[in-house]
Amino acid sequence: MQLRFFPYELKLKHAFNLASSSRTSTPVVITELTSDGITGYGEASMPPYLGESHASALDFLSKVNLSSVKNPFLIEDILEYVDSIAPANYAAKASIDIALHDLTGKLAALPCYKMWGLNRDKTPHTSFTIGIDTPETVKQKTEDASPYTILKIKLGRDNDRQLIEAIRSVTAKPLSVDVNQGWTDKYYALDMILWLKEQNVLFVEQPLPKKLMNDAAWLKQYSPLPIIADEAVQTAKDIPLINDVYHGINIKLMKCGGMRAARNMVAVARSIGLKVMIGCMTETSCAVSAAAQLSPLCDWADLDGNLLITNDLFQGVEIINGKITLQDSAGIGVRRVENYELKIANYEK
Ligand code: MG
Repeated sequence: MQLRFFPYELKLKHAFNLASSSRTSTPVVITELTSDGITGYGEASMPPYLGESHASALDFLSKVNLSSVKNPFLIEDILEYVDSIAPANYAAKASIDIALHDLTGKLAALPCYKMWGLNRDKTPHTSFTIGIDTPETVKQKTEDASPYTILKIKLGRDNDRQLIEAIRSVTAKPLSVDVNQGWTDKYYALDMILWLKEQNVLFVEQPLPKKLMNDAAWLKQYSPLPIIADEAVQTAKDIPLINDVYHGINIKLMKCGGMRAARNMVAVARSIGLKVMIGCMTETSCAVSAAAQLSPLCDWADLDGNLLITNDLFQGVEIINGKITLQDSAGIGVRRVENYELKIANYEK
């Protein structure tokens, strides 16, 4: 099996403003695993707050030697070896995991969700993120989001109510809210959540800083809306720790190391009665389509990373009337865009 990989920079349609930061691009690495003339595609996306970079991912991938692997279907063995190369490096590991799932799906001529026995009728609708901005721009972005049935709003600044009111002046669609740890007081958080419930919000992601476990446990007790852990949960080993603190978890392939680790997280979360959401980073349609294969297992999805960039390298999962729609194409279900090689070759740091 041969591994190739290329650095690439995703350009964002709108600056991505969080409670704590703002950026206009995201570094990714595209991987290719080839066996018997068939190629599987993978991706590592590395928003800066996760601590990985082009340099770290390229360094990790240069240590991966799969040239002696004859049977790509030994997924457990292969990914155990990849895990053993170095700790952390979750996005870099995810790029191998995704390419391997894509490759084996193509060799078996089956989409991943079918290999896992999942029902594609059970895919959730995806939310579409409206980034923090001036109320005027937020209004415009909301109008642009007409194909989506659930809108995700990033809160955590001092104009939260104003933003929700700006959106409510143009649409009555259900909303999900992501605070990205932006509220610091549990009473303020509860007040906001009580108010957000009246605004037809479905759930709230990471309202408090991840370190405030006691405050978050208190909030879980009183909140009329489900509270979902994102920053507070990275891998399966974190899940039992937050059982009394959150109602559910947001799983992302780049946080946990790929599709195999994500499926394991779903199983652990379900075993203790937690809700499950599948999310993404700013990613091409490659990693987003990989995550979509798992979405029949999830209550909610936030798979819009590919919709927020201008230079995607793949076509993949479709969103039809807001619903994630899985097709019959094998593996993770992606095709390279025209000029894929050229786009990668022309990439300049
Ligand atoms: Mg989040």
